[in-house]
Amino acid sequence: MESKKYKGKSTEAIHAGETFSTGVQDQQSGKTGIPLLPPIFQNSTFRFETATECASAFIDEESGYVYTRWGNPTQKVLEGKLAVLEAGEAALATASGMGAISTALLTALADGGHVVAMETLYSATYNLLNEEFPRMGIETTFVDATDPNKVESAIRPDTKVIYLESPTNPLLKLVDLAACAEIAKAHNITSIIDNTFATPCSQQPIVLGIDVVLHSMTKYLSGNGAVIAGAIVGEKEFIVAAQKGALRNFGAVISPFNAWLTLLGIPTLPLRFGQHCENAACIAAFLEAHPAVAWVRYPGLPSHPQYELAKRQMNGFGGMITMELKGGRAAGEKLVNQLQICALAVSLGDVRTLVCHPASTTHSHIPMEVRQQTGITDGLVRFSIGLEDTEDIIADLEQALGTLSF
Ligand SMILES: *Cc1c(COP(=O)(O)O)cnc(C)c1O
Repeated sequence: MESKKYKGKSTEAIHAGETFSTGVQDQQSGKTGIPLLPPIFQNSTFRFETATECASAFIDEESGYVYTRWGNPTQKVLEGKLAVLEAGEAALATASGMGAISTALLTALADGGHVVAMETLYSATYNLLNEEFPRMGIETTFVDATDPNKVESAIRPDTKVIYLESPTNPLLKLVDLAACAEIAKAHNITSIIDNTFATPCSQQPIVLGIDVVLHSMTKYLSGNGAVIAGAIVGEKEFIVAAQKGALRNFGAVISPFNAWLTLLGIPTLPLRFGQHCENAACIAAFLEAHPAVAWVRYPGLPSHPQYELAKRQMNGFGGMITMELKGGRAAGEKLVNQLQICALAVSLGDVRTLVCHPASTTHSHIPMEVRQQTGITDGLVRFSIGLEDTEDIIADLEQALGTLSF
């Protein structure tokens, strides 16, 4: 496998999958050149010289490109890189993280069946499993997957998928991926994880035995906040089934431009992620010591209830921090209004520090009792720590926290 070729993640992120060796030739001047940066093929369709060539591309897709919904060279370079980074056999890039999640689930559940899922999922994934799939006859049992026994107990004879996230949003709970992968294997069930928060720099679920890894590349992988994009990584058979089936027919294909923008981001992922981790560790410690803060959740803090699992499973604890303010909802609202460097915005994994206060913004329409049940308390604030200098982020936090009463 290509992953054996390089010793480190940065070399992989820079070189893996970049296979255009023949370059381009201008037919008029005869001049040739090999672009160092993979070029963008911003075209919807491909032209054939003869009817025979066209016919053979339809029979054997490996023999040529036909139409960008079926595949595009820019997308292929990106997919080659993703497969190597996640130590998978193959990868598929998609139009969005949700495009990856829905395509992967529709592939694993092609004959219907039941899903066992982590109870605190990314909200659109929860809606997909809780609202969309039941209309197709697919049921999900939501469990607290921080206890692998609860995952196993929820398995039914028709269970086809175990669906996980780790760390979870927004409470940064961890799932023991090796334990859950073992349970899935014992019951012949496809295990799937959304690895968006951790990135392949921190954890490699396929190495731990998980079958399929998903990403919202909108976040750390692209890193610049410029695209919406997603990815599926897994065994070749699964990826080919996803590509020829759900991706092609439901149509969540990535645009060549977004594939190319993501390709610009990935080479710096290991460098960026390392700095996100370093900055977040520093800020988590600052917040934990601040009198306006009730508690801080960060997998790299010894106060995290699963700190031992974090150390065992993760190589770098990421850039996401969640905290509870003593002043409740009013304090959360005031904090996000006072912050100047930290931008009030959803999303994560950006080079800029982002902050969100779910109770007054994204979750304000949800009744308080329901929010409390899922752990979205009134003073809960989530940070995606960016790449600014920590002195500046801390100064911003200090001035904003200093205005709060508690
Ligand atoms: C953002 C996100 C998604 C959805 O990705 P999009 O690119 O917005 O479709 C899925 N899972 C997690 C964990 C995310 O953070």
